[in-house]
Amino acid sequence: MTSPRKLHVKSFGCQMNVYDSFRMADTLAPEGFAETERPEDADLVILNTCHIREKATDKVYSELGYLRLLKEQAAAEGRRFTVAVAGCVAQAEGREIIRRAKTVDLVVGPQSYHRLPDLIARAEAGERVIDTEFPAEDKFDVLKSPRREATRKRGVSAFVTVQEGCDKFCTFCVVPYTRGVEVSRPVEKIFAEVARLADAGVREVTLIGQNVNAYHGEGADGRPWTLGRLLHRIAEVPGIARLRYTTSHPCDMDGSLIAAHRDLPALMPLLHLPVQSGSDRILAAMNRRHTRADYLAIIAQARATRPDIAFTSDFIVGFPGESEDDFGATLSLVDEVGYSSAYTFKFSARPGTPAADLGDQVPEDVKSERLQRLQRTIDRHYARFRARCVGRTFDVLFERKGRYPGQLAGRSPYLLPVQVMAPASMIGEIAPVTITEVSANSLFGVLAADGVGSRPRALAQAGA
Ligand code: SF4
Repeated sequence: MTSPRKLHVKSFGCQMNVYDSFRMADTLAPEGFAETERPEDADLVILNTCHIREKATDKVYSELGYLRLLKEQAAAEGRRFTVAVAGCVAQAEGREIIRRAKTVDLVVGPQSYHRLPDLIARAEAGERVIDTEFPAEDKFDVLKSPRREATRKRGVSAFVTVQEGCDKFCTFCVVPYTRGVEVSRPVEKIFAEVARLADAGVREVTLIGQNVNAYHGEGADGRPWTLGRLLHRIAEVPGIARLRYTTSHPCDMDGSLIAAHRDLPALMPLLHLPVQSGSDRILAAMNRRHTRADYLAIIAQARATRPDIAFTSDFIVGFPGESEDDFGATLSLVDEVGYSSAYTFKFSARPGTPAADLGDQVPEDVKSERLQRLQRTIDRHYARFRARCVGRTFDVLFERKGRYPGQLAGRSPYLLPVQVMAPASMIGEIAPVTITEVSANSLFGVLAADGVGSRPRALAQAGA
C-alpha cells in the first residue's frame, strides 16, 4: 500500500479563506492527500492568499521565498514538491506570480477550486498552470462536503460559506474584481451541509460571505430567501445551538434579519457591521451608499429589537482626502456606538481600484498617528465592555482544553474567550458561567452550577 501524499494548506486573510482551505483539503483527500501542519513534511503546499491589504500580498511573496528553499531541498532528495497559490492574490496577479516566482507550479482562483485534482495532476506532470476563470459550473456542486473525521478535529465551531462576491464596489476594495458578482447558495444545500457538520459534533455555525446579508439564495419554494429566513431554516438543524453571520453591509440590514435577532434564541447578540468612516464626505468617496445617520438608525433599530446586542466594526483611516475633521467624525462615531471591539486599518491603495488613483493621498505619518488614536479609543471601549462582564452569567460554549490542567477554553455569546475549570468531557457543551475576573484578552469564570474556579488557586495567587 502506498503512503498518502502530504498536503499543507496555509490560509491568509478572512474566514472565507479558512472555509475554502478546508474544502480544498476535503476535495483532495479522495485523491490520496493527507493534511500536515508542517510545510517541511508536505508534497503539495497551497497558499490560500488574501489581497485586501498590501501587507497580506507581501507575506505571500515572503512565504514563497521559504518554499523555494524547501523545493530545492526536495529536488536534492529526488522528491517532488508542488507549490500552488490560491485565493484573491492568485485571481488578481496570477500571471505576475508565475513570472516572478519560479517556485510556483499552479495558480488557481477562488472560483476554480473544484478543478484542483485535475489542475494538480497537470502541474505534477510539469506544466505551469493558471486557472483564474469564472467558470459556468457551480463549484459548490463539485467541491467535497466536510469530512466527518476532519470536522471532528476542526472543533465544535464551523464556518459555512453561503454567499460569495460583491456588487457594492466600494472604491477601496478588490473583492468585486477578485471574487466576482454576488452569488448565493441554495437554502437546502446549506441546510444539508450544516446538518452534516452537526452530525460530526459541530454546535456553532457562522454563515459567511463577503457581503453575507445580501444573501438571496433559492429556497425550497423556488423563490429567493433573505438571510433572516435562511437563519430560521438553519436554526432547525438538530444539535446546532449557536448561529452567527459575517460580514454584513449596512445597506443590506433588512427587517427580517434584525427581527431574527429577536426571534431566534440561537442567533448570538453580536453584530459585525463595518462602517469604515464616521464622515459623510468620506463615506460618499468610498461609495459606501449610506450616511452616518443611516448607519446610526440601523444600530438604534437593532438595539431596540435586541437590547443586549453588541456591535463590532471595521475602520479605514487615512482614506484619500480624509481631513482632521473627517477623522474626528470617525472618533465620535466610535464613542456614540460604543463598540465592543473593532478592526482598524490604514488605507492602502490596491491596484485596479478607483481609490488607488485618487489625488490627495494622506501622508503615511498622519495615517499612523490617526490609527493609534483610533485604536486607543476602541481599546477604551473594549476594556469597558470586558469590565462590564464581571459578575454577569453567560452561556459559554466549551471549545477545547485551556492553558492549565483542568481548565477549558470557551466563548461567550459575544465571542470573548472564557477560561473555566471544568472537566474535558464538557467540550462541545454549553453551560452558564459567572465571570469573576478579566485579563487583557480573556474572561475568567466559574461554572454557575457548582462554583468551580476558573484558574488553579496557586496560579491565581501568583497572578499568572
Ligand atoms: S461591500 Fe465589502 S466586499 Fe463589497 S466592495 Fe465594499 S468592502 Fe468590498
